[in-house]
Amino acid sequence: MSNRAMLVDYEWCTGCHSCELSCQMKNNLPVGQFGIKITEIGPWQYDDKKWQYTYVPMITDQCNMCADRIEAGKMPLCVQHCQSGCIEIGDVEQLKLKMTNKSKQLLIQP
Ligand code: SF4
Ligand code: SF4
Repeated sequence: MSNRAMLVDYEWCTGCHSCELSCQMKNNLPVGQFGIKITEIGPWQYDDKKWQYTYVPMITDQCNMCADRIEAGKMPLCVQHCQSGCIEIGDVEQLKLKMTNKSKQLLIQP
């Protein structure tokens, strides 16, 4: 297993789907298949005044972590196209350190 992982700061994910589309085009995936997929949670209201409404990016088995691009010295394509800068791919141990003191993050290792 590679030490490469994805860190998602989903507090800032806008649900724009740019990551999904860029990955589909790069990997020539058919309609309905994804290397990364945005999950929508909500909206619903709770505690009278609070709302649950969150987008969470999740990679699939078809994500190869853009190994070809990284070897060529380029950014993973989904990372390059995320205008919110909320996804990052790197060494799992270094990404673990980035998780401290910040809520609403996910560390995913394929
Ligand atoms: S790292 Fe590459 S293969 Fe994986 S989701 Fe992002 S664009 Fe797709
Ligand atoms: S490109 Fe970034 S902001 Fe847009 S859906 Fe993907 S992770 Fe969220």
